[in-house]
Amino acid sequence: MNEIQDGAYKISSPSDAKVVNVKKSQIKSALNILCPRKIDLLESDILNHFNALRNYIQFCSSPQSFRTAWGLRSETLSPYDADRLIKEGAQLIPQNRETRIFQYNQQGNELGINKRLILAVRHSEGNYDDELNDVGQFQYQSPNNTSGMLRCRWCQYLADQFKGGFILLAVMWFKTPINEKVNHVFIATPVKIVNIINDLTDLGDSLQNPLNLQLIARQEALSSINHVFTLAEPESDYQKHFPLEDGLTREYSFDKINTTSKGRTIKRWAQKTGKRCPGIHCKNNQNHVEFKDLRLSEITFGHIISQKWANTYPFLSETVNHPDNLYLTCRNCNSSLSDLFPGKKLRDQIELTGTIGDWIRNYEVEIKKK
Ligand SMILES: [Zn+2]
Repeated sequence: MNEIQDGAYKISSPSDAKVVNVKKSQIKSALNILCPRKIDLLESDILNHFNALRNYIQFCSSPQSFRTAWGLRSETLSPYDADRLIKEGAQLIPQNRETRIFQYNQQGNELGINKRLILAVRHSEGNYDDELNDVGQFQYQSPNNTSGMLRCRWCQYLADQFKGGFILLAVMWFKTPINEKVNHVFIATPVKIVNIINDLTDLGDSLQNPLNLQLIARQEALSSINHVFTLAEPESDYQKHFPLEDGLTREYSFDKINTTSKGRTIKRWAQKTGKRCPGIHCKNNQNHVEFKDLRLSEITFGHIISQKWANTYPFLSETVNHPDNLYLTCRNCNSSLSDLFPGKKLRDQIELTGTIGDWIRNYEVEIKKK
């Protein structure tokens, strides 16, 4: 708060720059609205947000169809365009006066319970020059008032704490005649807040900045939502891990890293950072040998749920090669484990050292540098 000075903040909108005169006293009262002082109120705000979202995910469209809808650059939806959208995975929702999300005459940001968090952002064709880039990201202008600007930063802060898993909805609407009362349809998709860090280092510089949002698939949204609810459960013996995003999951799956240069990069990084084998059957009767004392060919990727077991039960076939099912181990320990699951001791050790997924979550940039 102390970074924010009294003064004129210019909201960067490509079509029409707006100036908001910000006073410290306004920031103070905005903060009182946005951030509950009691931690249990904050927790219930967050759970309410994700609970409200969860109810809408089933009505969401695919990112691809949302992108096509965005690109139509038309206020009206023709039957041919509608057909194309549906083929790409769109769900067209007729306007509904009983929900605020699916009403067309509402303002840009739809706020959640207690007006603290942004539940949805609306994009209406013709109002903005907004670009949706190749990877499905777009900027959403901050509202032109102090509390709206601060709310954007607050949601970014939470997104940072949730390691990017802070989800909201993006909604568009089109005119399309159904009957006299119903003449608009909606298309919605989950988005997550991305590219946060520059907006949180000095609010005096960034208060007026837009939100950067990324279209995501329903599945990714559901696993992020699910993760938040597991965080709210009582402590267990095991740590809780943020879901690994889809792109990284594919990029570091077993087939992409086993005997590839990408895999060797991971091994070299583990050597340089002093990582050890989690097993106790290393060569020369050693425990937890340091990877730097091994040749690359003596280091391998182990599976927690074994490949053979996964072949026995086909439901595992999609997840057995997930980076979180993989860990780095010496060849000796891996072959002594054979097709068995790691026992409690080894599992605890793997959790301590980290799965490949954990390493990617925390050190992806460093690993790629090597
Ligand atoms: Zn070993």
